[in-house]
Amino acid sequence: MRKQIVAGNWKMNNDLSQTESLLADLKKQTKTTEAEVMVAPTFTNLHQAFDTLRNTDIEVVAQNMHFAENGAYTGEINASMLKSVGVNTVILGHSERREYFNETDELLAKKVDTALANNMRIIFCFGEELADRKSGNEENVVGSQIKNALFHLEASAFKNIVLAYEPVWAIGTGETASPEQAQDMHAFIRKTLADKYGNEVANTVSILYGGSVKPANAEEIFSKPDVDGGLIGGASLKAEDFFAIVNAF
Ligand code: 13P
Repeated sequence: MRKQIVAGNWKMNNDLSQTESLLADLKKQTKTTEAEVMVAPTFTNLHQAFDTLRNTDIEVVAQNMHFAENGAYTGEINASMLKSVGVNTVILGHSERREYFNETDELLAKKVDTALANNMRIIFCFGEELADRKSGNEENVVGSQIKNALFHLEASAFKNIVLAYEPVWAIGTGETASPEQAQDMHAFIRKTLADKYGNEVANTVSILYGGSVKPANAEEIFSKPDVDGGLIGGASLKAEDFFAIVNAF
């Protein structure tokens, strides 16, 4: 049985007092599903979030990290800094990192290696742009993003990897992939994994969908057999909406 996961990516939102208020609201929510729940505040609020959520079953995860162990990388955050504030999972490869910070597959492969070397779990994101979808090239794009950043790994590494398919055209746009589009792509992703690593790996890796998931559409998307949860942006900034999505399984 694959893990069901709902993760909230807060992106560059919420200062400390806004974070405290959202954390307090989250603590009031009740989970009625088996889904694992994660939230990803910005770096400056990770410590606070870990402290506040310590006795809950909400895991605090990071939105990014650097590939180097330490050194002269002004403005960057490494794996041991994250671990020292209780963070054991990191989101890597988000399309906003790829687009605005020029993160390439090659760079992401290095970040993946560093995270795994530090015994961290990874939520690895990828997804095609609108032009790729319009030209029918979405599977090629997604397939190569996965291969280029992950296919140097041993099969055992996938115990610590969660995949997140986030079509760029559906992020923050209000436009969601249809449940069928999500299912088709997730099935393709699982087949891509199976071709390289075999069915056992492919059938145990959780694949999340991200892109304008909200309480109104979560249940239908999560009902698809290869969709194992969601990576939620905008709707994760309100505790009630976020838990409506968590409880949509
Ligand atoms: P939205 O849910 O705001 O579309 O964002 C999705 C996302 O990018 C999560 O990482």
